[in-house]
Amino acid sequence: MKKHNFSAGPSILPQEVILKSSQAVLDFNDDGLSILEISHRSKAFIDVMENARALVIELLGLEGKGYKALFLQGGASAQFLMVAMNLLEKKAGYLNTGAWSNKAIKEAKNIGDIYEVASSKDANFNYIPKGYSIPSDYDYFHCTSNNTIFGTQMKSFPNSPIPMVCDMSSDIFSRVLDFTQFDLIYAGAQKNMGPAGATLVVVKEEILGKVSRTIPTILDYKSHIDADSMYNTPPVFPVYTTMLTLEWLKNLGGIKAIEEMNELKAQVMYSEIDLNPLFKGFAVKEDRSLMNATFTLENDKLKETFETMLKEAGISGVNGHRSVGGYRASMYNALPIDSVKALVEVMSELESKA
Ligand code: PMP
Repeated sequence: MKKHNFSAGPSILPQEVILKSSQAVLDFNDDGLSILEISHRSKAFIDVMENARALVIELLGLEGKGYKALFLQGGASAQFLMVAMNLLEKKAGYLNTGAWSNKAIKEAKNIGDIYEVASSKDANFNYIPKGYSIPSDYDYFHCTSNNTIFGTQMKSFPNSPIPMVCDMSSDIFSRVLDFTQFDLIYAGAQKNMGPAGATLVVVKEEILGKVSRTIPTILDYKSHIDADSMYNTPPVFPVYTTMLTLEWLKNLGGIKAIEEMNELKAQVMYSEIDLNPLFKGFAVKEDRSLMNATFTLENDKLKETFETMLKEAGISGVNGHRSVGGYRASMYNALPIDSVKALVEVMSELESKA
C-alpha cells in the first residue's frame, strides 16, 4: 500500500508521473531503449529538454518576456555560488530567513560584500522580516520564498529597485505570483518537480554580462543559455521526470488550480494544529508556509504513542528538522488532500486518547 508521503524532499511525485517515468526506464517512447541509456544528443531527448524548458516558461507566465529556463546540476546549493559569480560585482543585499538563506549568504561572501537587509534570526526564524529597505546601488537582492526547515513563506515580495533573485526550491509552481518581478529564480527539482539531480534556473537574460570577472565556463549562465541547457551532459532522467510533472500540472489547470488545492490542504492542516491543544504551530500565523507546516507536540509523554499511531496509519516523513525539532508536514503539489486528512485524523485521535 502506498504511504502518505510528507517528506520534505526528495518528496512525493504524482503517481502518474512515477508510472510514466518507470515505463520510460524500461522502454522510452516504445523505441526499444531505456531513457537511462540514450544519448542526450538524440532527437528524442532534445525534444524532452525543449518541452520541459518551454513548459517552465509557459506555466510561470514568462513567455516573450526575455527569460530563459535552464536545467543544471549541483542543486540549489550550487546556485548560491553561481548567482554571486554571475551577478555580484561589489555588493549584494540578502534577506536572512533561515538555514538556506544563511548558506546562500555564506557562499556569496566568497565572491563579494554581502549585506543582510533584514534577518529573523532573533526568533529562530519563525517569521518573515518586513519593512526593510533595499539599497538601490547594490548589484542584486536575494531572498528565499519558502523556508523549508522553519515552515515560513514570503506572502509578498519587496518592490526591489535592483534585480531580485529568489530561491524557490520548496514552493516553485505552488502558487500564483507575478513571476516577472524576479530576475532570476532557482529551485532544486526534488520538491515540486521531479527526482533529485536537476536544478531549475530561470533567468532574465538582460541581467547577465555585467560583472568584470572571468566566469569559469561551467559556472557561467551564458554558456548554458548558448548551449540550450546542454553545455555538458544534462541530468537526463530528472529532466524527463520534471517534464512529466509539468505536463501533469498543466493538465490539472496550471498554477492557479494547484494553488487552490494547496490552500485547502494547508487550511485543513493548520486548523488542526490550532484547535488541538496537544499541538503548537512553530511559525507565526501570517507567515505560515503552505508547503511545510511545522509544529510541536506539547506533551513529551505522548511522543511514542503519536509516532506509533502515525506508523500504523501509513504516514511517513513528518519528523521535523533537527534545528526546529517537533514535526513537519510537507504538503507539496503532488500530496493528495486525503493524506492531510489522514494525518489530521491521527492528531485528533491522539487528543481523544490523551
Ligand atoms: N534552498 C532551499 C529553500 C531548500 O529547501 C534546499 C534543500 N532542501 C536547498 C536550498 C538546497 O538544495 P540542494 O540540496 O538541491 O542543494
